[in-house]
Amino acid sequence: MTSAEIIELTDKYVMRTYGRLPLALVRGQGARVWDAEGKEYLDFVAGLAVCSLGHCHPAVVEAIASQARKLMHVSNLYHIEPQAKLAQLLVENSCGDRVFFCNSGAEANEAAIKLARKYGKIHGGQEKYEIITALKSFHGRTLAAITATAQPKYQKGFEPLPAGFKYVPFNDVEALSRAVNPSTCAVLLEPVQGEGGVNVATPEYLKAARELCDRYNALLIFDEVQCGLGRTGKFLAYQHYGVEPDIFTLAKALGGGFPIGAMVAKEKVAVAFSPGDHASTFGGNPLACAAGLAAVGCLLNEGVIENAARVGAYLKDRLLELAGWFSFVKEVRGLGLMLGMELTVEGKEIVSKCQDRGLLINCVDNHILRFIPPLVITRAEVDEAVEILAGVLAEMKQ
Ligand code: PMP
Repeated sequence: MTSAEIIELTDKYVMRTYGRLPLALVRGQGARVWDAEGKEYLDFVAGLAVCSLGHCHPAVVEAIASQARKLMHVSNLYHIEPQAKLAQLLVENSCGDRVFFCNSGAEANEAAIKLARKYGKIHGGQEKYEIITALKSFHGRTLAAITATAQPKYQKGFEPLPAGFKYVPFNDVEALSRAVNPSTCAVLLEPVQGEGGVNVATPEYLKAARELCDRYNALLIFDEVQCGLGRTGKFLAYQHYGVEPDIFTLAKALGGGFPIGAMVAKEKVAVAFSPGDHASTFGGNPLACAAGLAAVGCLLNEGVIENAARVGAYLKDRLLELAGWFSFVKEVRGLGLMLGMELTVEGKEIVSKCQDRGLLINCVDNHILRFIPPLVITRAEVDEAVEILAGVLAEMKQ
């Protein structure tokens, strides 16, 4: 099919929940993707499309193919080897003790919210159910997840929302200390907010969150769906801070491109769930877990995270260089390969012009360009992307 045909068919039959760009992608390899006409693009939004290892990483492709020939799916009534092994790998490389597998980030956060509520009731009684989240957060699109997502644009029209959520400004220690109280069962935060505009938590903020949770016997939950798994230059973003959560959630990069999510908890918290409390038919299926084992194995053993730290610092320097040239660039921020460029103008036209020239980036909150390339990206690919962006910004200046 041609791009035009794919776009037309999509427009006709697929529900209009996405503001899609006029581009139909049919192939990907490493940091590059190709449209139906064979035009090549450098993919600097791969972090959304979950391909941290680059598109179609051979180890992930091979793991999926060989697992698919053996066993694709069985019920969680039984024991599943790749699921047990992936849980072990995640636990051995984090502060968590036990893993619940699901299929997406929203589901991982739903599971975390349910676990926190159950834990709160067991340890603090019926009234300990309040969950505090941060303004500009994003936690997914299911009903509890949009309620946790403290941005009205995601909630409007879907009321009534589940009760018991409270919002505080991000990185505001004072506001958080005023909000946490004996009814709080959890504080849920992204160490680096993604959809909210690449906002990096300050060390004081996460430390204060940990102390407040300890004081009020509330759980600290980190949503690492976007910032976890190497993206910020550490396996998990919280590892930059020396602050450990009681629960953290993963998805996106976990399956190297294959759908899988996970909620990881400390033992004292995990035991609040009894058999029958939570479940997912496809959660932790052999195929997804085989993909996850390959993806996380490559992340940990092939220098991918170190590359994210190194090349991320380089990309940040290059973006700061651009900030020096163009007065409409207000700020460059982020950690590792999760970077944002805040503009004083709208970013939509820049995104579209970059796309025309073979660079895929996106824009959050109308004016923050986001750069989340595969973690295997090279300096040469960064240079190529920055050259395209610089050309587009120069054109905007005129
Ligand atoms: N949490 C965060 C921090 C996210 O960035 C996202 C997706 N952008 C989600 C949760 C939801 O993940 P999913 O789309 O897999 O449900």
